[in-house]
Amino acid sequence: MQPAQGDPSHALLAQLARGLVRCGRSRTERTLGDRSTYVGLSDVGQGIDCLRAAVARKVADRPLADPASLYREGRMDLIDALLRRELTLQRGHWFEDGIEAALCANGTPLLPQVEIDASSDGVPLKAHLDFVLLRGGSRPAVRVLELKSLKRIPAALYPSYEAQVYGQIGLLAEAWSRPVFSLRDRGGVPQFANLSFPDLVRRCLGLDLPETMTLVDLQGWVLAVSMTEADAFGPYHPDPTMLSLCRKTAKTIWETARAVRSGTMSLDAVAICPGFHILCDTCPFALDCPKFYGPMLADPALDRDLAELSGLKNKGQVLASEIAEREERIRQFCRLSGNRATWLKTGLYRVRNARIPGRRILDPVRLRSSLSTHLDPATVDAVIAAATTTGADYERLSISPIKPAEPRTLPA
Ligand code: SF4
Repeated sequence: MQPAQGDPSHALLAQLARGLVRCGRSRTERTLGDRSTYVGLSDVGQGIDCLRAAVARKVADRPLADPASLYREGRMDLIDALLRRELTLQRGHWFEDGIEAALCANGTPLLPQVEIDASSDGVPLKAHLDFVLLRGGSRPAVRVLELKSLKRIPAALYPSYEAQVYGQIGLLAEAWSRPVFSLRDRGGVPQFANLSFPDLVRRCLGLDLPETMTLVDLQGWVLAVSMTEADAFGPYHPDPTMLSLCRKTAKTIWETARAVRSGTMSLDAVAICPGFHILCDTCPFALDCPKFYGPMLADPALDRDLAELSGLKNKGQVLASEIAEREERIRQFCRLSGNRATWLKTGLYRVRNARIPGRRILDPVRLRSSLSTHLDPATVDAVIAAATTTGADYERLSISPIKPAEPRTLPA
């Protein structure tokens, strides 16, 4: 059931969603310029996961649904989805300001948002480095930090994030002494353009770096930050294979975008990431994505049940995070009370925060590496294949709100 229009809290949320959409667009234009005119490394990361999403971002700078119209149509479910997406995307920009302030408070020489124009072979490729930390003198060092704001810190990094940081350090190393580095201030006003990296650093920070980068200790790191935690993934070092993958992906994105723009290829014919993928949850191009083509059902009862189930699942997520937060507070209280072995008692409950041994997990990467020291690669593959089992198939129900779409024809 759609929520009734006219609820003042809905009007406020619709207004917030509208402001976030406008803010996001203006910030992107100020700091990254017209993104349809080049391929960025975030496009490359996205393109490694889903080519269609990366190409759609180039060719179809589609206006996102206007929250004011959605509010008039009573589609609070779509406004909620828009808010979720915008808050997820823009939280990263808000973190950037805070992380920059924290790093500057340490007095670390730092450059934010360095741009590298790495165009070649007819492909306009640009890298934007969130933060570059520097040390000059006799032991020069450069640390490229890519900031990722996440709801929860993952145990391992997504391949698209790794590709992005490999692209950044690879291009920095490759272009080091070429006049392709630029810097804008926070308002997007160009400060320096077309300088070599050592020249840019000298002019901005007064630090001397070697004219060739072979003597420089260069590392890339991904700094993953959530509302309550942070973790650093790295170090990454320039890797010719990964850089070549980035360039190849950039070329594919650019050439496919050109073909789609010129009408020689349909966006629906561009490869998508198969199956259930985290990228689809916040993809602005999901509405008419071929992944979700299916027969249209005109069934108000099913619509109502789906809306209610979707609402219950959202409430379940909120409840789960409230439970986790409450548990963490009580755990912290138990820790501070300093006694792990005995129960604490209140008038109504008893509580104990015991330490349980961690689960023993077989790490497939370490196993492969250990076996490789004793066995040849084919035997290692055979041993791992023989010891790998596949669980039984299971069902996963996915529900996403969509705007009613015009009936469409499938691509040939
Ligand atoms: S919805 Fe998923 S498959 Fe479709 S374009 Fe977006 S990310 Fe790719």
